[in-house]
Amino acid sequence: MNGCTIPYTQIAVDLLKVRPGSRVRFFFLSHVQLDKSCGLTPTWSLPIYCSPVSRRLLLKRFPLDPDLVHALSLNEPHAISLTPSGDVTMTVTLIDAHHCPGAVMFLFDGYFGRVLYTGGFRYHDEMMTSEAMTQFLSRPVDVLYVDNTFCSVKCVYPPRHEAVQHIIQIVEDNQDKKVVIGMRNFGKEDILISLAERFQTSVGVSEERFQTLELLESSQNFKIIPAGKDLSDCRIDAVPLMNITRGNLDTWNTERPTIAILPTALFCGLGFQPFQGSGDVFVVPCSDHSSYPELHKFVREVHPKSVIPLVRGDPRDPLTTSLLDRTSVECFQEYLDRTPMQNYHIPSSVLELMNSEGDGRRQTGRRRGRAGRPVGGRACDPHRRIKPSNGSPKDSVYTPDPEVSPRVPDLDIHSGLVSHPLVPKL
Ligand SMILES: [Zn+2]
Repeated sequence: MNGCTIPYTQIAVDLLKVRPGSRVRFFFLSHVQLDKSCGLTPTWSLPIYCSPVSRRLLLKRFPLDPDLVHALSLNEPHAISLTPSGDVTMTVTLIDAHHCPGAVMFLFDGYFGRVLYTGGFRYHDEMMTSEAMTQFLSRPVDVLYVDNTFCSVKCVYPPRHEAVQHIIQIVEDNQDKKVVIGMRNFGKEDILISLAERFQTSVGVSEERFQTLELLESSQNFKIIPAGKDLSDCRIDAVPLMNITRGNLDTWNTERPTIAILPTALFCGLGFQPFQGSGDVFVVPCSDHSSYPELHKFVREVHPKSVIPLVRGDPRDPLTTSLLDRTSVECFQEYLDRTPMQNYHIPSSVLELMNSEGDGRRQTGRRRGRAGRPVGGRACDPHRRIKPSNGSPKDSVYTPDPEVSPRVPDLDIHSGLVSHPLVPKL
């Protein structure tokens, strides 16, 4: 997931690796990826906005100044001042993304238009009927940044609650056996909680996951797998995905009849089914990302003016080669709102702030490596000042249409492929 900077603003979402002097001043974090460093360091000094659960996870995991991490409650708009004087504000609303614990979507509304950023998300009918979402969608959405992890015709799998039921059924059908569930370090805790409750049993987990469950106030049915051991003496254990191998299963089966469950849609994307023919390994396509039909449903309901994919091709990612079509958002053409983009004004105080902070960056950042690469085809000079247009003596005017937008500085963020700023043409 690449994250983004919102064009013509000092706002970044899910991009935390910045250089000194960057124009970015506001960071929004849709969810905490505990498997990754997030780019956070003890010297981090800018405000981060996230959900209350993400704040707890962040502060537990990373050495940050707690005063910098702002928890925003879900389902209600929060006004955030974009200038020190408070003369320009925007609102942001957080909606449950049904992804991992604490994950949210952001609905932004400000001088830059209306932007919906999903982060990682699993479509759920509930998210579309929440009052905050219905209200936001009552007016046109200019830009939708969408989680396109499984945006490929290959990626069709059942709704999440059905997948969880399937897992429960497998455990039910194997009453006399030990159950080992292969998972990443973080996410899908709800499956383990459902299993513990349904079978009235303890579930063995790593110490790290136990701490996460403690933070989520759900650790009562869990035990830590003893150090140096693969498994605990609980009936159900969660272990790292990579530990589910034929060899390990054979070993575990010599001690106690054991089955393994892999709750992941990864293999739908990769186009093959591992452990085929094995009676003791069950791959259940249970995903925290929306399936292809769900993505279509979501974009149709949002009816945005433009769509930007959050996942771009990473040649190191096997999914990239397997799902060549997923980065194309052409498939959403028919759901777009075709009314023309309207012009927006960059308020003069924001403009001044951006340019002055851009100057600061110019002094400190020029020798710090390459500028971000444009995605939309046009090169942007990251050091160029934004000039107010002739049409308005006070503010700078732009339209979020790539055909007519002025060139603006790229925000200076280390983000691999994301550079920003213009809405790609579909
Ligand atoms: Zn995620």
